[in-house]
Amino acid sequence: MKFEPVIGLEVHAQLKTNTKIFCGCSTEFGAPPNTHVCPVCLGMPGVLPVLNRKVVEFTLRMALSTHCTVSPRSRFARKNYFYPDLPKGYQISQYELPIAEHGHIDIEMADQATRIGITRIHMEEDAGKLTHDPYRPVSMVDYNRTGVPLMEIVSEPDIRTPEEAGAYLRKLRSIVRYIDVCDGNMEEGSFRCDANISLRPRGTEPFGTRAEIKNLNSFKHVEKALHYEIMRQQEVLADGGQVVQETRLWNPDKGRTESMRGKEEAHDYRYFPDPDLLPLAVGPEWIDSVRKSLPELPDAKKARFTDQYDLPVYDADLLTTSRDLADYFEACVLACKSPKEASNWIMGSLLGLLNSQGIEISASPVSAENLAGMIRLMDEGVISGKIAKTVFDDMAATGRAAEAIVKEKGLVQVTDTGTIETEVDKVLAASPDQVAEYRSGKTKVFGFFVGQVMRATRGKANPKMVNDILKARLG
Ligand code: ADP
Ligand code: MG
Ligand code: ZN
Repeated sequence: MKFEPVIGLEVHAQLKTNTKIFCGCSTEFGAPPNTHVCPVCLGMPGVLPVLNRKVVEFTLRMALSTHCTVSPRSRFARKNYFYPDLPKGYQISQYELPIAEHGHIDIEMADQATRIGITRIHMEEDAGKLTHDPYRPVSMVDYNRTGVPLMEIVSEPDIRTPEEAGAYLRKLRSIVRYIDVCDGNMEEGSFRCDANISLRPRGTEPFGTRAEIKNLNSFKHVEKALHYEIMRQQEVLADGGQVVQETRLWNPDKGRTESMRGKEEAHDYRYFPDPDLLPLAVGPEWIDSVRKSLPELPDAKKARFTDQYDLPVYDADLLTTSRDLADYFEACVLACKSPKEASNWIMGSLLGLLNSQGIEISASPVSAENLAGMIRLMDEGVISGKIAKTVFDDMAATGRAAEAIVKEKGLVQVTDTGTIETEVDKVLAASPDQVAEYRSGKTKVFGFFVGQVMRATRGKANPKMVNDILKARLG
């Protein structure tokens, strides 16, 4: 491709505080419409907003986790626009002086770390929710969400591919979950993303004109929409045309982006400092205390996993995507002492199982201790790797411990030389043609013999012994 994509993302994360940003109303989701409202969040005249300290603390957690510089003084501003979901006629946000700037996060792309800059992080309030009646010319508004705290995280235009955008979003979500400030659920809208994208001729510096894509409510849709937009802009430019600066909506049914509003229709928000709120001062003591309260973050955990457990970067990256997954891994290793085995089983069979059933690791039917028990049986040579898979499936279905399953089903590995020799001899005697083939140099039939012996022992023969004895007999 002649052109290089330039992508920057704006993420809105709903903060998990109990109450709203400027009043004491509950942020609980799913309550009957307009039951979590008060004169402040309804924008009645004569009331004053009071900043929720927890909102600042949660935003500071994020700022420090993404290597941002915290501003000792920041300000709230009014963003003015008229819409029925906004009772005050303005949204309280931060504009010129956000609480944090100049951060970054690192993403892992094909074992290579790429740094994506974070321009700014600021706090703002959410708007209400409109529902349009499909049968009557009537719209209804629910103000429960009005004043629910949001944190906006704006990236630098450092992202170059849709896959990098996906990795950036996953990393961001992983961080907000680690530090417990947002539940990170994109489908339910508590973690929302707008994507800005432009193209420029490869090897040139200046950015092209961008489009901003909205209505992206899953990681998959973000990547798909960006792929589509790259194609669309590329066609425009290749035809000698110009990309227009506009807001576009992703249409998931049609698999394309559609123009929503152009630059001419862009709002003039007439931002100005909110006279009802004092500038926010965050001193070094507050920053220090927040820093001390932070858990081990994904990058630090990943580095520790590669060091302490000698894991490949790929494994460490995947196992540290969530705290629960990382904790599960460590509990398993503590009990079985085989980090790479544990990692393989977790990344393969266990995550496969959880994905197929759509469940979280915290609800896994196979506990970390049970998985460790199974790995120990393998390490001790009691069961073969093949039998282990059977044991795993049983654990997944019943939640029982590996030892119990092996005992009950008689799955103990056969390591008795005499027994295996007898089976090997039987197989060789029954397959004279294949033996002749092998002796004539077609050694590929060796696998056939192994398979026959394993079948005869119902997978229980120690595979290494089978191999050795077969070689000795045929050699
Ligand atoms: P706005 O306030 O209009 O949304 P910003 O300047 O805050 O504009 O930029 C929003 C996002 O767009 C940021 O993530 C930024 O990195 C990205 N961005 C800015 N210019 C471009 C461009 N030419 N191409 C792609 N992304 C861009
Ligand atoms: Mg924008
Ligand atoms: Zn309220």
